[in-house]
Amino acid sequence: MTAMMVSGVQRAEVLDGKVVADAIKREVASEVRHLKETRGVTPTLAAVLVGDDPASAVYVRNKVRACEEVGIASRKFGLADSTSTDELFRVVTELNRDDDVDGILVQLPLPKQIDDSVIIEAIDPAKDVDAFHPTNVGLLAMGKPRFVPCTPAGIIDLLDRNRIEIAGANACVVGRSQIVGRPVASLLLQRHATVTICHSKTRDLPSVTRQADILVAAIGRPAFIRGDFIKSGATVIDVGVNRLTDPNQARQFFGAEADKRIGAITEKGYTLVGDVHPAEADLVAGNRTPVPGGVGLLTVAMLMKNTLQAAKWRRNL
Ligand code: NAP
Repeated sequence: MTAMMVSGVQRAEVLDGKVVADAIKREVASEVRHLKETRGVTPTLAAVLVGDDPASAVYVRNKVRACEEVGIASRKFGLADSTSTDELFRVVTELNRDDDVDGILVQLPLPKQIDDSVIIEAIDPAKDVDAFHPTNVGLLAMGKPRFVPCTPAGIIDLLDRNRIEIAGANACVVGRSQIVGRPVASLLLQRHATVTICHSKTRDLPSVTRQADILVAAIGRPAFIRGDFIKSGATVIDVGVNRLTDPNQARQFFGAEADKRIGAITEKGYTLVGDVHPAEADLVAGNRTPVPGGVGLLTVAMLMKNTLQAAKWRRNL
């Protein structure tokens, strides 16, 4: 894949998350149909939302909508912000027992009073479609994954479907969270990349990230990865989702797209920016994922794939 020239200026090619997410969802929908016709089985996802965090509500709504698109049945459970660890534990235990439920998703982050490790460990590993249970984390770390966390799995699929070679590549992951940084590093290693993991204590971060043929940013800081962090021609995967409310920053970050983004700030109060500085990355990278329209869409598509997989595995299909 090559970078494009736009008005004499190098422009990184966009790795479109929607194209890949739509392809994954089409494949899942076709298998779900087949499962219904041949076995009378409808995969079912239980989505549990605790509290009233607006971003979490949007994420759950998008997941339920994706279920409808692909023919997966969904059950949504909305629990009060004051729910205790014990109460949520009981809900999860009930869902574990319910033979009609194939996948259980507990939307994170949970309210502060809830011990999330108790909840994550309570989910039956066979229904753990987010793949955060220690059994599934351990299997992935051993290089024998069963369920793979949705965002990292989506990133690997995006690279594969865009024919970006992983084996032998220098890959650098900035961020070491349980849900993105660590598992994506494990998957890249399993696919024979030479992997470096960076974090907030990494010395001279740009000199490390500049070695990367594949750079994954999962930090949670708006436009943190500047042009001088990026090797010329590299593939840049931007996992970050940050709300930007300052029109002046939008002007600096978005180059040719700035007016559109400032319009969004005026209209709804914010626009989304990733962890990568888009205008600067465009001048250096070979290709990059946009925010929005990149990794986020893949996360939801992969949840559908994991739910289908759970339905099949639970019935030895
Ligand atoms: P997280 O748990 O907060 O972890 C952030 C990581 O970034 C930590 O490992 C931290 O290092 C590292 N970091 C922070 N500041 C740094 C710095 N100055 N230099 C180098 N490393 C630094 O975040 P997360 O859950 O992985 O999420 C990261 C971003 O991805 C967020 O914007 C989140 O919203 C987004 N996200 C998107 C999706 C999606 O579907 N698109 C899914 C999940 C997350 P330490 O470990 O040293 O503290």
